[in-house]
Amino acid sequence: MVGPFRGVPYSFGALREVYGPLFVRCDVCRRYARLYLAEIRDTDSRTKTFSCCRGGTDGALAITEPNTETGMTDYRLDQVEGPQRHPAAVDRLSGALKPAYRLSANHYGVKAPSR
Ligand SMILES: [Zn+2]
Repeated sequence: MVGPFRGVPYSFGALREVYGPLFVRCDVCRRYARLYLAEIRDTDSRTKTFSCCRGGTDGALAITEPNTETGMTDYRLDQVEGPQRHPAAVDRLSGALKPAYRLSANHYGVKAPSR
């Protein structure tokens, strides 16, 4: 028996209550991180977006550990301490235009020709 959840509806705390541990994954890097709720427990999960701190692409909220899903077994757990928004994601979220080549170059770790 699970008692009625008394937290904020649609909050991350409510999701956590229903689904257990939450994860955020990046489908481009094929990595994911456990989502810790300390500061966002009472935040409406519909109002929050995630982005990859490595590549800056959109992250997806996952209610199961991604590498246990069919077709995602190669996803790596990549927990980052105090992740920061990738600059490309900040630009995108603030509506600023960014050169697309920078995002892809950063994302795939392409090095500029040295000379
Ligand atoms: Zn990524």
